[in-house]
Amino acid sequence: MNEQIKDLDMFEVGTCDQCGKNTSVYYRPHAGQSFCSRCLTKSIERIINKTVSKYNMLSPDDKIIVGLSGGKDSIVLLYNLMKIQKKVYDAKPLIALSIDEGINGYRTQSIKSARKFCQRFGIRHEIHSFKEKVGKTLDELLNLKKSDIDFRYPCNYCALIRRRLLNDIAIELGGTVLALGHNLTDIAETFLMNILFKRFPLIAQQSPFDESVKSNTYYLKKIRPLMKLPEEEISIYIKSKKLDYYSDKCPYRKQFPILRKKVLNFIVNLKETSPETEFNLFNGFIELSEILRKEYKDINPNFCSLCGYPTSNYDICSYCQLVQEIK
Ligand code: SF4
Ligand SMILES: [Zn+2]
Ligand SMILES: [Zn+2]
Repeated sequence: MNEQIKDLDMFEVGTCDQCGKNTSVYYRPHAGQSFCSRCLTKSIERIINKTVSKYNMLSPDDKIIVGLSGGKDSIVLLYNLMKIQKKVYDAKPLIALSIDEGINGYRTQSIKSARKFCQRFGIRHEIHSFKEKVGKTLDELLNLKKSDIDFRYPCNYCALIRRRLLNDIAIELGGTVLALGHNLTDIAETFLMNILFKRFPLIAQQSPFDESVKSNTYYLKKIRPLMKLPEEEISIYIKSKKLDYYSDKCPYRKQFPILRKKVLNFIVNLKETSPETEFNLFNGFIELSEILRKEYKDINPNFCSLCGYPTSNYDICSYCQLVQEIK
């Protein structure tokens, strides 16, 4: 973690380059500029607004469903979307959607932070769980699967179910857009992971320009308004705004030597000598995803014989396969 975010009050590097008045609290290495807390906050909000308009993420009549875990990214996302929507005449109210995977001692706490935030700002908050939707908590599911020869990292099962539930429940709630709190660091990390595993169709699907990211019969349009903000800036922003959030990490992420974690450490280390690393990866992702999108656009997917969703499998999609196994 960047040293700068450990203690915001202690960090002083001179005068803010933006206003020339206040003491700086953050140095943005890739831009070579320092910021006071006020100017950094303004700059971050400007970046979010610009990202939303550059990638045509929202239209005035959208019904936005915001994925809310209670962690810093999703809280910052919801807070900013709320501000953006306030400027839109007659905007439909946002709905925050939390998925409780059933991770003992962790998710209950983060959902508490999510609930507190929604109560404070009067936002409708929907909470749905793995238990309610697929019959088992993630903890129970892992207990069941861990003796299997093909047992995978907990995140594989977790992400597969959560992605589907977020999408389906957001559609049930009448959403037209599903907003997710992925930041620049997440995007860079995911891109590198997809390259390492040669998951080119996935890269193509994630392009912000891809037609398939617009809502269709199966999937709601997904937007990532924080995708140009490095994780450390979001940490500073949330502290300067004094917004409560849940800061602990998922025990499964701590416990398992996930490759993703190694990839993240690699990026963090590289950033020390090349601060533009994440931006280069982001730009690479945008360019490559556009090339791959054109490459894959004429390939017709198969459809799952159980749920009807598009799938690269021949018969049953991975989600239905897993749900069948645990039932
Ligand atoms: S770290 Fe992995 S197991 Fe934990 S909530 Fe995230 S995806 Fe699920
Ligand atoms: Zn300033
Ligand atoms: Zn299916």
